[in-house]
Amino acid sequence: MQGLFPMQSRALRRHLLAPLFLVLTLLSAPLAVTGQGTSFNPALPLTHVDNGPNSAWAESQHYVVLVSLDGFRWDYAARDNATHLLAIAKAGVWAPQGMWPSYPSLTFPNHYTLVTGLYPEHHGIVANNFRDPERNARYSMYDKQATNDGSWYSGVPLWSLAESQGMRTACLLWVACEAKIAGFLPSYYATYDGKTQATPEAEQARIDNALALLHLPAADRPHFIAIYFSEPDHTSHEFGPDARETRAAALRMDALVGKLRAALATTGLPIDLVVVSDHGMAKSQGGWINLDQFADLSAFLTVGDLLYGKTEEDRDRVYNQLKHVSSQFIVYRRKDVPAGLNYNQNPREGDPVIVATGPFPIRAHAPAAGETSHPPNLGMHGFDPHLLPEMKASFFAAGPDLRQGKTVAPFDNVNLYPWMAHLLGLNPPKTDGSLNILSGTLRDDGVAPEK
Ligand SMILES: [Zn+2]
Repeated sequence: MQGLFPMQSRALRRHLLAPLFLVLTLLSAPLAVTGQGTSFNPALPLTHVDNGPNSAWAESQHYVVLVSLDGFRWDYAARDNATHLLAIAKAGVWAPQGMWPSYPSLTFPNHYTLVTGLYPEHHGIVANNFRDPERNARYSMYDKQATNDGSWYSGVPLWSLAESQGMRTACLLWVACEAKIAGFLPSYYATYDGKTQATPEAEQARIDNALALLHLPAADRPHFIAIYFSEPDHTSHEFGPDARETRAAALRMDALVGKLRAALATTGLPIDLVVVSDHGMAKSQGGWINLDQFADLSAFLTVGDLLYGKTEEDRDRVYNQLKHVSSQFIVYRRKDVPAGLNYNQNPREGDPVIVATGPFPIRAHAPAAGETSHPPNLGMHGFDPHLLPEMKASFFAAGPDLRQGKTVAPFDNVNLYPWMAHLLGLNPPKTDGSLNILSGTLRDDGVAPEK
């Protein structure tokens, strides 16, 4: 699409001279944003990928800032009186009964669903950690080589969609930010570092960097910015969803959202702010359930509770061994997993497939002798949200394109993609989501303007 739009000669000259990859700034000076100069917070260095300037059309479009608060359960805002999120609800739209995460209600599958509009089995990230039997390889959220390898991901992330249609984007620690997918990397992205990303400095840096990006000249300014925060997930795993510590973490994230919203307002730009979470949290019950106490898994490859049988005979045998041994899980041959879970088509899901019937910690094997064994976390997620409504996620949004004080009933999170594409004026591909579901929140009722 880029070639369809005339490039300004100044921009063209600069883009011919610029190196392809350029670490923008690592200035030690504190953030300073003026009309001319822009500097980024050094606590979160950004990489710039030269996808060219915004097209003239893209420059005329509005902005979307998408924020995820990991594990921010649907009811926390009202429960803990998260004033900044509730203010967004009042000024715009929200889902007071929450948003349905996709199954499994885990971080990597759902973050990638939010930006592709595809159920996990259609975008390929079916768990945080899984195997691909066909390529005989393992994907793990802890393995940078895998997470940065675009060949694991299907679908068209919203940033790639925008980039392909002449619009610049930025991605601050969202799942898959650093992988080239559907032909593109975001124009600006931050590198995830699990050791430093949750420090107060790195959290503040996401706000500072978003603001600095929005002060770039119009040709370079991203119109879509995705921002990920890892709390309150971590705290609620450790202390459980109802703990004082979790409430404090939820309110700390709410305060960050308030700071971001105030900062965005200073830009004077037409920005729709969307705040979501990937999933909720339940208090776990009981100790580990080790599937190998019921079935001989010696011929299986396993990851967590995912079971990869090598032969049809093995798969059928283990299915029968696990069939009636516990009320805490149901075992299915993959093809028979209920359609509502959207989890029966992708070989990465393994076969047979285990679905917990409650907040029960399940794994294939106990740790081998010599490996440390940790008790299950107090807080857990990943479960069927229709069985455990504690899995429901949050949704808040406000901005110039959204109605005021509108509430929506729980909806599948795949529907955010066509809705955000509409806010940005992009033409989305066909996905599992539909614009109809949320069109009532839009001032234009979802009617696309003539291009
Ligand atoms: Zn988690």
